[in-house]
Amino acid sequence: MEFKFDPELNTLARLVRERGCELFVVGGHVRNTLLGFRISDTDITSALTPDEMTGLCEKAGFKVVPKGADFGMVEIHIGDKSYEHTTFRADSYGEGGSHRPQSVAFSKTPEEDAFRRDFTVNALYASVLTGELIDPTGGLGDIEKRLIRTTTPDPETILKDDGLRIMRLCRFAAELGFDIEEKTFAAAKKCAPLLADISAERVRDELKKILMADAKYGLPAQESVLRGLELMDEVGALDVILPELARCRGVGQSPKYHKYPVLEHIFQTVSMSEPELTLRLACLLHDAGKPAALEKNGNMHGHDVISEDISREVFRRLRFDNDTAEEAAWLVRRHMFDLDGRAKEPTLKKRFAEWGEARVNALAAIREADFRGSVGERITVKTAERWRRVLGEMKAKRTPFSENELNCTGRDIMEWLSLPPSPRIGEIKRALFMHCAVRPQDNTYEKLRETSRDMK
Ligand code: ATP
Ligand code: MG
Repeated sequence: MEFKFDPELNTLARLVRERGCELFVVGGHVRNTLLGFRISDTDITSALTPDEMTGLCEKAGFKVVPKGADFGMVEIHIGDKSYEHTTFRADSYGEGGSHRPQSVAFSKTPEEDAFRRDFTVNALYASVLTGELIDPTGGLGDIEKRLIRTTTPDPETILKDDGLRIMRLCRFAAELGFDIEEKTFAAAKKCAPLLADISAERVRDELKKILMADAKYGLPAQESVLRGLELMDEVGALDVILPELARCRGVGQSPKYHKYPVLEHIFQTVSMSEPELTLRLACLLHDAGKPAALEKNGNMHGHDVISEDISREVFRRLRFDNDTAEEAAWLVRRHMFDLDGRAKEPTLKKRFAEWGEARVNALAAIREADFRGSVGERITVKTAERWRRVLGEMKAKRTPFSENELNCTGRDIMEWLSLPPSPRIGEIKRALFMHCAVRPQDNTYEKLRETSRDMK
């Protein structure tokens, strides 16, 4: 197997050799080269300590950014490229799954370093200068078998040391389309409660990756995203990080519309949606309120409102940024809009003018995913198609999509109707906006003036 490394990396490797050490590429770069998958970043490693590496780079004129020097990591910038260098380590961890090593001991060889990494396929080392491959844990064999397995023979020690590795396990299986080795899977089940000790940010970032697993290497969503979510459920990770969803497990629903119980339907919906994070988060939580609605009302009416509350709480807890949280929660709240496709066209137009193009398209996308996720097939969804047609017509007719796009101002309205400043002016402006949503040809100064007369 030919490894291709940047010339910049060769320069660095020669400098490392002058210090009597060898520079290796490790992790995703090696794994993905062997698999023929896209390479997203290059992680490098050697016996040089962060201080030694920093000294060496500064002398050579490379910029170094410390990145958790406690863990032996520094980011090295050469030209427009950057590499994460980690010193060989042999960690020892305390109790709990919080990934706080009690002591970080630097070590001298990849053979030692490999056993503090998580999975064998991630613990392959390629020498930058010679291209030689070092495989202390049997990663090559596992790549051939398409298997994720922990580096140590006792998987519990690895998974206990950092609870996040349970999510990483599901994520790599999902992204790569690999199976999980039996003992590794059993240990993950046992260790899943340790995920409770992991910071919200780390959990959030892994969850994002699982939701977007198909986008990583182009596997079909059913084989990646759906599998990742199912694995999280089977392993017990869902109960810890998203108990709201775990509650949907086994909740049945009308076979008239649904092939799946609630949780399976949710997973199907996510994997039927386009690979866009906000949309997938909305799909993930759109029916989370069903168990609570059922308990409260004896049926699932109003679950959209409860789901919105739940999704906001989840986004807050997992520290999602405000924009993503707001857009996804908005979609969750509206996902039942015009469910039967019987909304009158003027009603659609008024709503769409208010919501704007992006939200209408997102709503059409979640509707499609929801219906497809109910039957498990990529069926045509009439409501979504109708909405897109109506939206297209509105755009073609230059319909205003906000009050600011009206061809008159509040001042004009006051003048036309001889009214003093008051909230009434705002109401009239809104009425004109709604009028033009349906009759965009009236969005001219003259027509607006005429129309406003009846509104005094
Ligand atoms: P990707 O292609 O997604 O970057 P990767 O395997 O390179 O995948 P990184 O998160 O970049 O993943 O980490 C680089 C390497 O560092 C991993 O391959 C693994 O050996 C090690 N590693 C990263 N995070 C952990 C962890 N939480 N526990 C153990 N080893 C880890
Ligand atoms: Mg990487």
